[in-house]
Amino acid sequence: MQPTHENRSSLILAGAPTSPNPYNDLMNGNAESRGLAILGSTGSIGTQALEVVDAHPERLRVVAITAHSNVELLEEQARKYRPTLVGMVSEKAAMEIKRRLEGAGIEVAAGPECLIEAAAYPLADTVLNGVVGSAGLPPTLAALGAGKRLALANKESMVAGGELVLEALKTGGELIPVDSEHGAIFHCLRGEEISEVEAVVLTASGGPFYGRSREELESVTVEDALAHPTWSMGRKITIDSATLMNKGLEVIEAHYLFEVAYDAIKVVAHPQSVVHSLVEFRDGSLSAQLSLPDMRLPISLALSYPERWGPPFKHTDMAALGALAFGEIDRGAFGCLDLAYRAGREGGLATAVLNAANEMAVAAFLEGRMGFLDIERVIGETLEKYEPARARSLQDVIRAEEWARAVAEEITGEAA
Ligand code: NDP
Ligand code: MG
Repeated sequence: MQPTHENRSSLILAGAPTSPNPYNDLMNGNAESRGLAILGSTGSIGTQALEVVDAHPERLRVVAITAHSNVELLEEQARKYRPTLVGMVSEKAAMEIKRRLEGAGIEVAAGPECLIEAAAYPLADTVLNGVVGSAGLPPTLAALGAGKRLALANKESMVAGGELVLEALKTGGELIPVDSEHGAIFHCLRGEEISEVEAVVLTASGGPFYGRSREELESVTVEDALAHPTWSMGRKITIDSATLMNKGLEVIEAHYLFEVAYDAIKVVAHPQSVVHSLVEFRDGSLSAQLSLPDMRLPISLALSYPERWGPPFKHTDMAALGALAFGEIDRGAFGCLDLAYRAGREGGLATAVLNAANEMAVAAFLEGRMGFLDIERVIGETLEKYEPARARSLQDVIRAEEWARAVAEEITGEAA
């Protein structure tokens, strides 16, 4: 493997040392428990993170939660976990939650800025980013800028702004991946020298359409695509799993997180989702991390690291599992994976364009405005029109995304 930065000695993706949170002793008189901000607390990742909190109430206290517009659930969570800050991205929903939480002693922040406020919240030691889409990038940068531990589920921040995230890490904070594949690689690299690594191998469940031909994919419905065989997740990532764009986004995520060259990132199909990923060393040996598919494990590891806390789920019974199966990915049928490699190798703003076009195309498919294979076509045609440019700032990324959304929307309109 040719890491872009050789001899990274510490496998925790740490920037400058973080100063201890001065507010720790003030909260509950308990200096041991960690203040946790959960961005996207009403989603699949967010609610599972709260289950990890339920299993370890003495170690974790929720200080801030945010959602987009789910007032009912955010209110319920606010009353149960008593954070001192709640954020709502939708201004209308924020007004409603403010009304409902009147007199509860909880500050309510409104609009996209609430994500920044929660990410940099002084009472938070750790920020779990479980927002969906590249809306997660500004709070990713804000959390690192404020010196927090960032438990990162929001892969789109890495894909849209990987170079900016690595820059932010140089100045402070630490980043621990939550995505199960990257959590597995992080696990396999513990105590290892990165210079001994030959390749990382991402496993892919293959999604609901594993084994189908291109012709068969032409007529699949939204309902078919949302029926993931092994993971229960939010709608957007479930469609990404069906197109294999999820694996493509994860290839780019791995490139930035572990600083591995694209030629050293392999993908293998593994429909059971028990082996979460592998690391191949120079001597040919492979290390893997195995467990039943349950996101509470990588969430828990990111929150507890370097410790391991007892799992709030079943241990894996290997004998009951029987055989483990692996196979090739059919790249002819599922073109999104190669589009992601292409954008990744191109670098600069190409991955931000890929991600924004994908977000737009997935939304159009979910709304019934185009077919399943149109997702790949819209992303491919948007990338064709992209002119290479570097990602120097968040503004550059935002502008590239706006451009990509407009182009993808136009192509989508032609398809409809
Ligand atoms: P969900 O759709 O279930 O949840 C998304 C969360 O983000 C909700 O709390 C939602 O609020 C909030 N949200 C939606 N839009 C915005 C926005 N524009 N700005 C701020 N917040 C917003 O998604 P998942 O939990 O499935 O996924 C979250 C992230 O984690 C994604 O990046 C995904 O790729 C990644 N991931 C998820 C896995 C999983 O098992 N689910 C596994 C690995 C990675 P509201 O409810 O109000 O709409
Ligand atoms: Mg994953």
